[in-house]
Amino acid sequence: MKELAIYIHIPFCDHKCIYCDFYSIVSYQNVLSYLYHLKKEIEFYSKSFCDEYKVISIYFGGGTPSFMEPSYIEQLISFLKQEFNINSEMEVTLETNPGTVNTNKLSEFRKIGINRLSIGVQSFNDDELKFLTRIHDSSTAVQTVIEANNCGFENISIDLIFNLPNQTLLKWGKNLQRAVQLPIKHISAYSLILEKGTILNKMVLDGKVNLQDADYDAELYEFTIDFLQENGFNQYEVSNFSKPSFECIHNNAYWHYKNYLGLGTSAHSFIEGKRWWNYSSLTFYSKAVNEKGHAKIGEEILTQKEKTEEFVMLSLRSSGLDIELLKEYYDSSWYVRNQSYIQMLMQDGYLLQKGNSFKLTKKGYAVCDEIISKFH
Ligand code: SF4
Repeated sequence: MKELAIYIHIPFCDHKCIYCDFYSIVSYQNVLSYLYHLKKEIEFYSKSFCDEYKVISIYFGGGTPSFMEPSYIEQLISFLKQEFNINSEMEVTLETNPGTVNTNKLSEFRKIGINRLSIGVQSFNDDELKFLTRIHDSSTAVQTVIEANNCGFENISIDLIFNLPNQTLLKWGKNLQRAVQLPIKHISAYSLILEKGTILNKMVLDGKVNLQDADYDAELYEFTIDFLQENGFNQYEVSNFSKPSFECIHNNAYWHYKNYLGLGTSAHSFIEGKRWWNYSSLTFYSKAVNEKGHAKIGEEILTQKEKTEEFVMLSLRSSGLDIELLKEYYDSSWYVRNQSYIQMLMQDGYLLQKGNSFKLTKKGYAVCDEIISKFH
């Protein structure tokens, strides 16, 4: 049976953070109607995927899934179990924001089958959290991680953002130091990205906020890799670090170019080389699901060249590029075409070879987008 990862988007949030460009709604009014439409969408896709695919992970992302009542998430998990072929050992992740959960709610989430939390800490510095307009402070973030662990969550990940305005290496180092003292198994560390249409973007354009430059960003990033490595967190993707055996199964499905089905507003799917995406607007999503059972608004069938480019990019950003796999499934002449560039990258210390695979070094990860853009 083929493997399938399922993503469910929960769009509801307490408020809109200044840097966020995810689809989210600051209202809790339509939750029950949204649940109803999600179940209809699950029912629609189960007809096509139940027989051939086994579900290896479910990921509730958002938005703020932890804003939901545990009983609502339980309804979705039970319904998925009823409609899909589910691996009993599957990873079930819930994105969780500090400030939206307490011990009772965390215990409930654990009881209904959530076995991995991805906690949106972002920073342990109160000034930085205020700048990001998060609803929590540092002590709430620490308390959430500790309470989650006490409630039986062994697999906890936290998100952190670096290169915030005026963030010194010392401040960022303190964030990392605090993180590794906590009972967590995974860290996603992202550089602050300026997305069009966000409040932060306007603040930068209006000259109210100054961002730090790319060289400084690379310095913080390389420091992050060294620090986390020294503290037992292995880098397995550009921005992701885990204790041994705690790599995220769901995200690895994206990075290892496996099949995934996205449900809910703005969700993307990728099955056997075909990609499609849903309406972002809740109104259009619900209307489409009522009428057709799904809410697909666009799709693309990747050409062999596009598949090759994506496979190379995703492999180099994560576990490394397996040349034999590339030759067999994507492009038998890619390696010959790029051989001299690969040799140059290895000589300059950006890439190293392990058996049939090429992997980026720390120096390579820091400029990976530039490196990848030059393959042809
Ligand atoms: S809580 Fe998360 S999804 Fe919601 S607005 Fe903030 S960053 Fe975006």
